[in-house]
Amino acid sequence: MNWQMWYQHAPYDWFSRFGMIYPAVWIFVFFWVFAMGACFGSFLNVCIWRIPRKESLSKTASHCTTCGTAIRWFDNLPIISYLILQGKCRHCRTPYSPSYFFVELTCAVLFVLTVLKSGLLKQYIGIIPFQLSAIFFTLGCALIDVKHRIIPDKMSFSAIAIGLLFTLLMPQAWGADSRLSALLIAVISGVIPAGILALFILTCQLLWKRTVIGWGDVKLLLAIGIFLGLPGGIFVLLCGAFTGCIYGLAAIRKWNGVVPFAPFLTFGTLLWIFFSKYILDAYYKFCISW
Ligand SMILES: [Zn+2]
Repeated sequence: MNWQMWYQHAPYDWFSRFGMIYPAVWIFVFFWVFAMGACFGSFLNVCIWRIPRKESLSKTASHCTTCGTAIRWFDNLPIISYLILQGKCRHCRTPYSPSYFFVELTCAVLFVLTVLKSGLLKQYIGIIPFQLSAIFFTLGCALIDVKHRIIPDKMSFSAIAIGLLFTLLMPQAWGADSRLSALLIAVISGVIPAGILALFILTCQLLWKRTVIGWGDVKLLLAIGIFLGLPGGIFVLLCGAFTGCIYGLAAIRKWNGVVPFAPFLTFGTLLWIFFSKYILDAYYKFCISW
């Protein structure tokens, strides 16, 4: 293999290259990815608490929501501090919700699995930031939606902005050779699934004068399409609609007729990130058999 070939394959074959030459490097890399995931999970906890309450994300430092004592940096380490303090405030001993710990751990584990999966499947290295952002934002929106029955614009618009920024930085992730065409593909990938959902909502409002799904879900789906691409966006829409309908019919009383849709979009997003290869294979096989 000549140098040019080596260089061309490097963004796809990065996992086995480094893994075979320096196995110890991977232990360090995965530890780092796990720690980064835990930090993002910790920040997501702040977003989940503050954004629906219209509190600033940056103005005040982390504090105990019961006694108001500021949490010092060594008590604010993701995952570790929760275990050391056994999930309680150091000052007033009020127990914190275990959901803080689980959000941090979930983010950390999903981040590691995403990098591992992309490496093993020889996916382009530039798609990893898109997929990690998709996990961060859909997970956050799902938890806010379940608790507060809204998907804040701050979350969905930030997600869209970050997706477009990554597109400009890494147009190759879209198989495009110019930034402009990558941007165009990204916008189309978001607008088509979001547009289908918007049409569905408008139809429901016209025919039955009912809002079954909120506009926040449309904005979130737009972001998901930008993170995952058009096939991913369509899959998440179909998967969300299918699982959401089944759950909605079973539990409509609990939610007074309006079921939070974001958790089902999140479920579809995770399925796509980890199993898109198998979903696409099954789809092609299905097409050929017909
Ligand atoms: Zn306290």
